[in-house]
Amino acid sequence: MHKRSYSAALLQGKCPRCREGSIFTNPVSRLSTFNRMNETCPHCGVRLEPEPGFYQGAMYVGYAFTVAVLVTIGIILYLLGDPSEWVYIGVIIGVMLLLSPLNYRYSRIVYLYFFGGIKYNPHLSQPK
Ligand SMILES: [Zn+2]
Repeated sequence: MHKRSYSAALLQGKCPRCREGSIFTNPVSRLSTFNRMNETCPHCGVRLEPEPGFYQGAMYVGYAFTVAVLVTIGIILYLLGDPSEWVYIGVIIGVMLLLSPLNYRYSRIVYLYFFGGIKYNPHLSQPK
């Protein structure tokens, strides 16, 4: 019986309790609905919003992701020949727009995993 690892479940956006049910209802590629979440896990039924307003804290995770991407792009552009500041601004805005659906989802997933208080239960991870 194969069980999904902690990091694989986090990267695939699976429920932190059973690691089987998806946290989000649609794939990230659907730009109009990428942000829709399941209220409860479709596999084990755990509430995926532990308390009202829980995901406001995910903003801080998203901010950290944004800063990490911004610094990485800045270093890469600098090493590629230090172009004008407008190139920095344009590339950073473009990349942040492209990554914003992923940023939104992973900030919520990471916040749920780290601060959601939901423990992994291996007995719930059998596929239905
Ligand atoms: Zn679950």
